[in-house]
Amino acid sequence: MKAYAVTMFCEPVEEIDVADPVPKGTEVVVDVTRCGLCHSDLHLQDGTYDLGDGKILSLADRGIKPPVIMGHETLGRLSAKGPEAPIGDDQIGKTFLVYPWLGCGECEMCLSDRTNMCAKPSSVGVHRPGGYAQKCLVPHPKYLVDVTGIDPTLASTYACSGLTAYSALKKLDMDKEKGWLLILGLGGVGMSGLVIAKALGFRNIAVADIDEGKRKLAEEHGASLVLDPRDAGALEKLAAVGGIGGAVDFVGARPTAEFGIAALKRGGSYVIVGLYGGSMSLSLPLLVLRAINLRSSYVGNLVELRELIDLVKAGKVAPMPVETVPVAKVNEAIGRLRAGKVSGRLVLAQG
Ligand SMILES: [Zn+2]
Ligand SMILES: [Zn+2]
Repeated sequence: MKAYAVTMFCEPVEEIDVADPVPKGTEVVVDVTRCGLCHSDLHLQDGTYDLGDGKILSLADRGIKPPVIMGHETLGRLSAKGPEAPIGDDQIGKTFLVYPWLGCGECEMCLSDRTNMCAKPSSVGVHRPGGYAQKCLVPHPKYLVDVTGIDPTLASTYACSGLTAYSALKKLDMDKEKGWLLILGLGGVGMSGLVIAKALGFRNIAVADIDEGKRKLAEEHGASLVLDPRDAGALEKLAAVGGIGGAVDFVGARPTAEFGIAALKRGGSYVIVGLYGGSMSLSLPLLVLRAINLRSSYVGNLVELRELIDLVKAGKVAPMPVETVPVAKVNEAIGRLRAGKVSGRLVLAQG
């Protein structure tokens, strides 16, 4: 089959020929039709994360070595199953979303469907071949999520951007009716965060982004207040509405973290999910005196993905902007994402 892989870090993705996966045991294969392009794919292509203060985290040191067939927002038609795969023959040909955040399959986390927290991750499109290929092997059909009735392009984005936003929002302990939520950064995941926050009942949503076009997009999708965090009066505007009860940082850079934490009211929570990179310093006594909570959220678990898909099927989640790009143009799509020239999500299409 044809696949698109990082064959060398920092180089364009290359088309390669690899053997078709043959399912054994409980494994299943999907013929990929859609695969979303994620910001974390850019880190995979670079082979590094910026830890700040001149320090770099090398993916090669963490066991991720080229060739890497990326793609963790994979959707496709079930085409083959291993002899022990517990799924009916009548499901062959049906379209499923692949839950990508897999683990070792044996630890306490994996056995309780929290594979995203496994210490030995085996994520689709990161540690094992992903959806930038004609076919994708999945270890067990329980990781296939039925997305019948959902537009396939949109559905693919729920495996990472939707799930990451959903799981982060669920970690906020705040009054959704009266309190204010702050979304930092309106990239693909932030955009998912906005539409999912509305579905979850957050009434007052502020969105901060340095890009005017993205602030406009936020307004069009129901943000109650939009601001440029670089404006001198931005924090005052948030203080004027009573302060922020919960902030989700979809960028994860020093300026967004500093802004998000400063905007919290007493007892508020800041959740970081973005991996832009950098470092910051914090005044420790102020954490206590302001009684604020700082935490992170890493993608989401299988149960949360099923909950999110149920919300979507119930018509509660407004669609976010998505655009399909032929998979052969993956490098062009990556270039657009790097340049910040994407509204919502780019999704690679084939088949
Ligand atoms: Zn992702
Ligand atoms: Zn595990």
